[in-house]
Amino acid sequence: MDFDLSEDQRLIRDAVRDLCTKEFAPHAERWDREAIVPRDAVTTLAEHGFLGMAIPEEWGGVGYDTRTVAMVIEEIARVSAALAIMISVHNSVGAVPVLRFGNDEQKRRFLPRLVSRELSAFSISEPGAGSDAGQLQATAVRRDGNYLLNGSKNWVTNGEQAGLYLVFARTDKSAGNRGVSAFIVERGAPGLIVGRAEDKMGLRGSDTVSLSFHDLQVPVENRLGAEGDGFRIALGALDVGRIGVAAQSLGVMTAAFAEAVKYAQQREAFGQPLAKIQAIQFKLAEMERRIQCARLLIQRAAWLKDSGQPFAREAAMAKLYGSEAATWVTHQAIQVHGGYGYVKEYAVERYYRDARVMEIYEGTSEIQRLVIARSLLKDGV
Ligand SMILES: Cc1cc2nc3c(=O)[nH]c(=O)nc-3n(C[C@H](O)[C@H](O)[C@H](O)COP(=O)(O)OP(=O)(O)OC[C@H]3O[C@@H](n4cnc5c(N)ncnc54)[C@H](O)[C@@H]3O)c2cc1C
Repeated sequence: MDFDLSEDQRLIRDAVRDLCTKEFAPHAERWDREAIVPRDAVTTLAEHGFLGMAIPEEWGGVGYDTRTVAMVIEEIARVSAALAIMISVHNSVGAVPVLRFGNDEQKRRFLPRLVSRELSAFSISEPGAGSDAGQLQATAVRRDGNYLLNGSKNWVTNGEQAGLYLVFARTDKSAGNRGVSAFIVERGAPGLIVGRAEDKMGLRGSDTVSLSFHDLQVPVENRLGAEGDGFRIALGALDVGRIGVAAQSLGVMTAAFAEAVKYAQQREAFGQPLAKIQAIQFKLAEMERRIQCARLLIQRAAWLKDSGQPFAREAAMAKLYGSEAATWVTHQAIQVHGGYGYVKEYAVERYYRDARVMEIYEGTSEIQRLVIARSLLKDGV
């Protein structure tokens, strides 16, 4: 494993950092306040190729490896975690499953749209099925050349803006996880109802909606993989997505850490800068330690994936560690700011709210521990 960035990666990092600083950073606080990331921001990212990060050039993407994708997500999350989750979901659990499990016709129909302009969404959670996603109740019944989908979904990131939804529904009620299939649903399809956005604690610029299906007709050609492959497709997508959540966590905590260091050097108490006080130094040291540990776990998971090795356990560890580190680091960043950390004038307040959900979506911390434990008990330590 080589920790240095390649020349290409350095150029990409500098370009995305420059873009984020100039185009997104000035608006991130307003996006949070107004609870919307405007379409223009997504268009700007699309123009730079960031909607097709993991899609090979032959399908119109830019074909980055996983480490580079994680690096871009981290950079975006440093200025706006809301925009970062939109792009992370789109790339890792929206577009990648189409590349990985789609047939050539599906790739030809959908990938050019996904890499050039349309956001995608991943919809498995339901009101009664979150961590235990295998309990999902939405049904898909085959009728002639279509499936008729009925049921409801919730917590769909990008659900308001998406052009395509990757939806999981039950094609066989008696077959447990093997009775779930995956479908590509197009925005505007009759029978698809998009609910209103949730009023969230953080990531407020990113929309999270419910969906309901009322005899929603999905052509058989839009089924991804074979009937019964859906659960396997979802789990495979989430393994990739978890590296993305870890990268979001890294970006948010890095931003909070930078603010904490700056503030500690400026603010004086007891006749000296906070940064001279050992109790504050210990906090900063511990923040740095956790940030570096998170980065290493992300790099390891990404490297395993890019070198074709199993990476699910490492992706779960990167997500678990990174998200818990992000809530801890952002919490401490507020502590370093004292009362000023508790008001919206200082960005650490937003970072703290944004970080919290990273321990929840794409599998809670408890579920990551289960994934890690099952893997090591099955495959060995
Ligand atoms: C902002 C946001 C965006 C989201 N985006 C998406 C999306 O794009 N697509 C999508 O499909 N879903 C999405 N989700 C849903 C998310 O993945 C679920 O919220 C998550 O998986 C947890 O499910 P739940 O909320 O039903 O909690 P529950 O499953 O009810 O869990 C409640 C608590 O019990 C714990 N628990 C449950 N089972 C176990 C167990 N066996 N052992 C130990 N502890 C357990 C959980 O860890 C948690 O602490 C999103 C959620 C949020 C908040």
